[in-house]
Amino acid sequence: MTPIPDRSGAEARADVPAQVPAPEQTPALEARDLSVVYPGSRGRGPARAVDGVNLRIGKGEIVALIGESGCGKSTLARALVGLVRPTGGQVLSQGRPLDYSAKALKQYRRHTQLVLQDPGGALNPKQNVYDAVALGPRLHRLTEGLPERVHGALARAGLRPPEAFVGRYPHELSGGQQQRAVIAGVLALDPMVMVADEPVASLDASVRGEILKLILHLRDELGLSALVVSHDLGLAWNIADRVAVMYLGRVVEQGTVEEVLLHPKHPYTQALLSVIPNGAEDWRPTLLTGEPPDPTAIPAGCRFHPRCGRWAAASEADRAAAACDRRELPVLTPDGARAACHLLEPNTLLPETV
Ligand code: SF4
Repeated sequence: MTPIPDRSGAEARADVPAQVPAPEQTPALEARDLSVVYPGSRGRGPARAVDGVNLRIGKGEIVALIGESGCGKSTLARALVGLVRPTGGQVLSQGRPLDYSAKALKQYRRHTQLVLQDPGGALNPKQNVYDAVALGPRLHRLTEGLPERVHGALARAGLRPPEAFVGRYPHELSGGQQQRAVIAGVLALDPMVMVADEPVASLDASVRGEILKLILHLRDELGLSALVVSHDLGLAWNIADRVAVMYLGRVVEQGTVEEVLLHPKHPYTQALLSVIPNGAEDWRPTLLTGEPPDPTAIPAGCRFHPRCGRWAAASEADRAAAACDRRELPVLTPDGARAACHLLEPNTLLPETV
């Protein structure tokens, strides 16, 4: 768990400019009402892994997508890079709907790259660093000036001097160096967007900060846009411009990192944040109760209601009016409400979702 250094003020965030430039209008990458439903099997019904998600990643912006395992965030990441075909809605790249022909997808994946959690698994143990980084450019026939391309990518990924790394094999690298080599392979293709699925989850705490700093540096120096998928809200604090919190296939809260982490509105976000030690003597985590999310059995009404402490603690009158166990919530849109909840504050019933 990446700690949040100080929740009392946004100015405490290290390495992040206080004023994040407003992203340009056309997002680098967008999910529009996106759904991915897997067919049922072994007596179980269809799994609605992603269920009507709207999400935008602006140019030069880092968005953190946060949620527990099984919430659909990795499926969403794969749909955004074209590895999973949506069953509904659209992926838009630079404002244009994704073309799923083999030729167009190959070109798309050059500019929208996926980084996986386990760098050891992403690297071929029989391939040295040069060949690993050169793999993508060779696939895309970018062979002219290949050594310069590979060395430049290694240097940008922080493996300096590149000559010291090109002949090494994965087992001769630390975990952090392996992840840098994977990121160098991404940079060798001059991508516009990087989608990183738990990019530091398998790394020691001592090197996590280095990789996060590298992603920030790539945003600042190259204008790279990134979606960083994680279960860790502390990571979002350290790296993201905006945060989207996902529960059972839906985005339930979204906003700037300061809005979501310093002033969370949704009880699920509040529960996730509460488990991060804040140094206070009276710190008590809010443990989530009830069954873990199951995309084959999404509850009626608000899908979080079986685990929601706010709903459980509400007065009889508020429970009757909110009807969280029966009343569906509208899907969040990027320009719309911050959080999807019928009772945005404890004991404060809002007639419509705000
Ligand atoms: Fe909890 Fe109701 Fe809000 Fe859902 S709508 S998060 S059950 S209070």
